[in-house]
Parts: sequence; C-alpha cells; structure tokens
Amino acid sequence: MSDCIFCSIVAGDIPSSIVYEDEDVLAFLDITQVTKGHTLVVPKKHFRNLLEMDEVASAALFAKIPVIAQHLKEQLGASGVNLISNMEASAGQTVFHTHVHLLPRFDDKDGLHISFDANEPDFPVLAQLADQLRMETK
Ligand code: 5GP
Ligand code: ZN
Repeated sequence: MSDCIFCSIVAGDIPSSIVYEDEDVLAFLDITQVTKGHTLVVPKKHFRNLLEMDEVASAALFAKIPVIAQHLKEQLGASGVNLISNMEASAGQTVFHTHVHLLPRFDDKDGLHISFDANEPDFPVLAQLADQLRMETK
C-alpha cells in the first residue's frame, strides 16, 4: 500500500532496525522503545489490522511470535513479555498495517504499567452474554 509506513519499512524504503525476517514476516524495533527491546512484528502483506486477516495469514504471523518473544527475553535478560495488538483507533491503533507489539518486561523496573479494572463477577450476566456471543465451530 503506497502511503503505509510499515509497507515502506517492509520494502526497505524506510530504514528500520530489523530483528527477524522471513518470507511472510518482519520484526523490527519500535522507534519509541516503551521498554527495552520493544519490537513490532508485522506481516509483509498489507492488512489494516488483525480484524481483516484470515486464518492462513494470521497463522503465518502468529507462528513466529513465540520464537521472537523467547529470543528477546533471553537476549535481554527480561523476566517476561507483553503482547499487544491495537485494532482500530478506539483501541489505540495509530498505524493501520497489522502489527503485534512485543514488550519485554523487567520486573517492576521498566516503567510500564498495564492494569485492568476488575469488576465483581456477575454470573447471570456472564451467562446471558455468553449466550449472545457463542460462536459455531469454524
Ligand atoms: P499502534 O499505536 O498503532 O499500536 O503502534 C504503532 C507503533 O508504531 C508505535 O508504537 C510507534 O512508535 C511505531 N512507529 C511509528 N512509526 C514508526 C517508524 O517509522 N519506525 C518504527 N520502527 N516504528 C514506528
Ligand atoms: Zn502496509
């Protein structure tokens, strides 16, 4: 896609700090380095985000995620890794080419705080919602 910054990075028209590359996938360091080693894993083919990807394309992308995450963790001596993929602007997506953030974690010393506000479980509401959302096997 001509005006997509990650397509330009995949094509080599914009420089990037490459961590891993194969025929389907490119992984490169995020310029902002939210934590040390913050890496973006992208499909070489343009998709707007994961919501647009079929099983084959997303399987090729996610097949490489564990090995890249393990590599980052080992090389950096990290204690954990977060995986985030923002889909659409309301979810924080700013670059509209599918990407998975891998964020190496260094105990409580890396300055990144991710938290979920926990609600008390309401089991009837959960059951009703599951009825509404239950999918057929694909
Ligand atoms: P999003 O907010 O869409 O989930 O994440 C987009 C990410 O792309 C941001 O973390 C941002 O720092 C990163 N980014 C944007 N432009 C570039 C670029 O030109 N090179 C690299 N390496 N990362 C970029
Ligand atoms: Zn693109």
